[in-house]
Amino acid sequence: MATSTFNCLECIGYCCAIYERVKVTQKDIRRLAKHFQISAAEARERFTKVWSPREQVLRRTPDPIFGESCIFQDPAKRLCSIYEARPETCRQWPSHGGGGCVYYDVLKFEEHQQGGRDFLPIVTFIQLPATPSNAEKNHGK
Ligand code: SF4
Ligand code: SF4
Repeated sequence: MATSTFNCLECIGYCCAIYERVKVTQKDIRRLAKHFQISAAEARERFTKVWSPREQVLRRTPDPIFGESCIFQDPAKRLCSIYEARPETCRQWPSHGGGGCVYYDVLKFEEHQQGGRDFLPIVTFIQLPATPSNAEKNHGK
């Protein structure tokens, strides 16, 4: 599917809201610590949580559109409040898109269909009952 060039400044920040799992490494935690001028231990405690024994992810916070979002997404501006200090996962996003972003395409498509932003398309995930084929899959950003 062809994708258009995306513009995060025109988006509602799907990628920061819909993924429960935004992985952070030790390097990411040190970058956050430097940004907030706190220790790495404090940054880890305040901004991240355990996802699995081997993985730490960003904490989440209530969000007026999606119900929940990344702790660093500005709920009004819909942008990252720590852009220069964001984790590597976010720096690479949307590397899958071939120059585009599928969520931006959905937003623009519905803007056109609905004649504006009175209605927004909300994208989310639900977990299906475990089967052999989906048990190992996840929805990491
Ligand atoms: S969903 Fe796409 S267009 Fe929207 S903020 Fe994220 S990367 Fe940008
Ligand atoms: S750190 Fe910033 S870019 Fe990454 S998910 Fe959170 S708000 Fe989005």
